[in-house]
Amino acid sequence: MASPVPLGIPMPRRTDPLSPSLPDTSDRPAVPGLLDTFARTATDLRVSLTDFCNLRCTYCMPESGMEFLKKQQLLSVEEIVRLVRVGVEQLGIQQVRFTGGEPLTRADLDEIIAGVAALTPRPEISLTTNAIGLEVRAAKLARAGLDRINVSLDSVVSETFERITRRPLLHRVLEGIEGAREAGLDPIKINAVLMPGINDHELPDLLAWCLERDLQLRVIEQMPLDAGRTWERTAMVTAADVHQMLAPHYLLTPSEEPREGAPAEKFDVRSRAAGPDSPVLGTLGIIASVTRPFCADCRRTRLTAEGSVRTCLFSTSETGLRDALRAGASDEDLARIWRAAHWGKAAGHGMDRPDFTQPERPMSAIGG
Ligand code: SAM
Ligand code: SF4
Repeated sequence: MASPVPLGIPMPRRTDPLSPSLPDTSDRPAVPGLLDTFARTATDLRVSLTDFCNLRCTYCMPESGMEFLKKQQLLSVEEIVRLVRVGVEQLGIQQVRFTGGEPLTRADLDEIIAGVAALTPRPEISLTTNAIGLEVRAAKLARAGLDRINVSLDSVVSETFERITRRPLLHRVLEGIEGAREAGLDPIKINAVLMPGINDHELPDLLAWCLERDLQLRVIEQMPLDAGRTWERTAMVTAADVHQMLAPHYLLTPSEEPREGAPAEKFDVRSRAAGPDSPVLGTLGIIASVTRPFCADCRRTRLTAEGSVRTCLFSTSETGLRDALRAGASDEDLARIWRAAHWGKAAGHGMDRPDFTQPERPMSAIGG
């Protein structure tokens, strides 16, 4: 049967339910950090600033019909900084990454970054963005305290870019990357999701393009977080495929840098023609979330744009902090709720289990 044609009629926004109760913490040791029952402690916080975006990447959002959060549903600058402060002061958060949706669509992004940069101890602050409009914002964001940036770019071929993002805006992304460079943001990492028959054949050229510009490419395995629910385990580009596709052109040797819970496996890249003794041309990261999950060493906790804790991208429920915050909860109360939520973090995303359930929220509404 032919798949239904999207009519552009707004569909109800899909969210995951809030947990009716907090996990039982009677066995939890009285430690301040975000400990879970598998002895992992989260120190890395991802904050989604909005579910809105100016692109419509096929692996992340539907073509039309998204209903976005209203301003009063989103956390304000003060609320975001307050929750991050609770994370830093009470829960041991060391790294904060702002994401979305598209975080640059928030005009107050520099105020949020400045507020977080003023915290003690100061966390490391990074941003994941599609870079549209970055050329006019990068210097101000860097001055506010932005340390590092990841730009999503799946293709440097206009037609392919438009096919994936459903917008003819490659030139805007390239301008944004140049703006980030001029603002002194370094390193600039490029996130690319590969899809079979769409952009996978462009991988060697994309890597060459990045190496020539001193940009660090990170290839991300596509995860089942697409609004269209078309993801298939057997039809995805795996980390092994990436090695195979690059082998005729490049030699990849595991980087000696310690991984320390980072999702990317890093490789030094050399030209195959020039041989193993030739100079390293740059670094490639491969994030094999599906085929080589790193859940056992996960150090992440997440806040959605409306102020709920998600302990995993693949959680099917969340714990709201916004209502408690707006009802006057103390820092200690917020930390207690966050700790309890985290104690219930699952062992892993379970993508390989037959009973795996895709979360209701698409990636854009979780915060990638
Ligand atoms: N709009 C910003 C951007 O695109 O960088 C930030 C939000 S986006 C959701 C964050 C990251 O998630 C991007 O690098 C994007 O490529 C990645 N992403 C989105 N959907 C994905 C999926 N289904 N599987 C793997 N990565 C995905
Ligand atoms: Fe927007 Fe980023 Fe999702 Fe693309 S991946 S639709 S840029 S939120």
